[in-house]
Amino acid sequence: MPPEVTQYLDGRVRLYVGDLTEHAVDAIVNAANSSLLGGGGVDGAIHRRGGAAILDACRKIRQHEWPDGLPTGEVVMTTGGLLPARYVIHTVGPIYGRHAGKEAALLAACYRNALELAARNGLRTLALPGISTGVYGYPAEEAATIVSRTLSEAIPLHPGIAEVRLVFFNRQQCDVFVGNQQFAA
Ligand code: ADP
Repeated sequence: MPPEVTQYLDGRVRLYVGDLTEHAVDAIVNAANSSLLGGGGVDGAIHRRGGAAILDACRKIRQHEWPDGLPTGEVVMTTGGLLPARYVIHTVGPIYGRHAGKEAALLAACYRNALELAARNGLRTLALPGISTGVYGYPAEEAATIVSRTLSEAIPLHPGIAEVRLVFFNRQQCDVFVGNQQFAA
């Protein structure tokens, strides 16, 4: 796993560059689409490496909980299958420009709800990608501000969550985040 880049909020948020699927944490968060049946980007990487058990679990969630698909900002949890992470928390990020000005609130909801679900299940360590900043077109600069503010509010609410890793695919994405973050001091 590539080395940690920097940290915030007394080390409870740590930034990494590399592949999210390599992180051995309690749960990694998937930037899924509402079908939950797989896609490109980080979603594709998670299903490839995690194996069929994740897709099976997603199909059951579609059948029993969300027959019309997972709404934007919502979260569900499955096994991590063959991943080093125990669980995958799937969320659907907003498509930039498609939610009538509610994009920022929806992106914040993805992070907030992922932390809440993790805490409710007694999970202590999480790793998340830059939700919506790929195919869904969210500008990385804006996302950095929203994500850092959201985590600054949400992390103090969940004392059981020891570490939240933000995993960027390359150094440039990580640098943009660092330059635009607004973590509480
Ligand atoms: P979305 O549809 O929510 O935009 P994407 O998967 O297209 O989701 O991209 C989300 C972010 O995840 C992008 O910044 C992309 O570069 C990054 N990414 C893609 N694959 C990986 C991976 N294996 N590990 C970490 N980040 C990844």
